Amino acid sequence: MSILNADLHCHSIVSDGTLTPEELAVRAAANGVELWSLTDHDEIGGQQRAAAAARTQGMKYLTGTEISVSFAGQTVHIVGLGFDAGDEALRRGLAATRGGREERAREIAGQLALAGIPGAYEGALKYVGNPELISRTHFARFLVERGVCRDTGEVFRRFLTEGKPGFVPHRWAALGDAVRWISDAGGIAVIAHPARYRFTATEEYALFVEFQAHGGRGVEVVTGSHTAAECTQYAQTAREFGLAASRGSDFHSPDESHTELGRLPALPADLTPVWELLAGRIQ
Ligand code: AMP
Ligand code: MN
Ligand code: MN
Ligand code: MN
Repeated sequence: MSILNADLHCHSIVSDGTLTPEELAVRAAANGVELWSLTDHDEIGGQQRAAAAARTQGMKYLTGTEISVSFAGQTVHIVGLGFDAGDEALRRGLAATRGGREERAREIAGQLALAGIPGAYEGALKYVGNPELISRTHFARFLVERGVCRDTGEVFRRFLTEGKPGFVPHRWAALGDAVRWISDAGGIAVIAHPARYRFTATEEYALFVEFQAHGGRGVEVVTGSHTAAECTQYAQTAREFGLAASRGSDFHSPDESHTELGRLPALPADLTPVWELLAGRIQ
């Protein structure tokens, strides 16, 4: 299968992106994407629309999601690709993972109020497309709107992250559960943007070993959040562990994302692209 431009990671208004699945599909196709996946956080409510829009735009499609997982005291993201979107255990697992977001959002807003920024819960809600998916990104947009910060990057440096006002520790899904929900639904689990985590070498090794032991088969080597050196580094990790490689922009918004849909370096030629393992799942 000769797919040159696959983009298997992005977000719509169904999670914390600002475009609809249809708008994303138009944008991906205009940028030459041949195989696309919409991977909203902890949610597959946009999958039917995305698949239909991909068809309209002449792109191949893989179902997708990005599951929030707690591992060794940090949040790790696991992308799932090519699963059966009707799978009941997967749907239940994602619903449970979304479950604590509302209460967490109220606590985030409480902390921001103490830091002198009132009304953040209502303010963030204006940006939310899916009431079950209030995210830190929506708070970041509100803080930019209020003029507290110049852009969402500055918000995450000054607020909402560990040690800063508005950081609320949260227990997400277990690694093994997330990998199993995806695999048992016929898909492949992929460690998202591995360079983003702040693990020691030992912790990172444990993440890859446990991920693989639970049935995980892929790693994002080329992503919008990796430098060229990080792509090289995680290509080597893929070789060492015998993992397939994925490629995705992690596009959220024309105003916020540095990496455009489909505008990414190619995967190193010796790696197995994750879509080769999913040939039978491509729509
Ligand atoms: P949440 O799932 O509510 O914890 O929000 C996580 C989301 O916040 C990520 O998926 C990103 O979209 C966004 N995010 C996290 N860290 C940063 C950052 N440093 N700069 C910009 N966006 C970030
Ligand atoms: Mn996000
Ligand atoms: Mn992520
Ligand atoms: Mn993402």
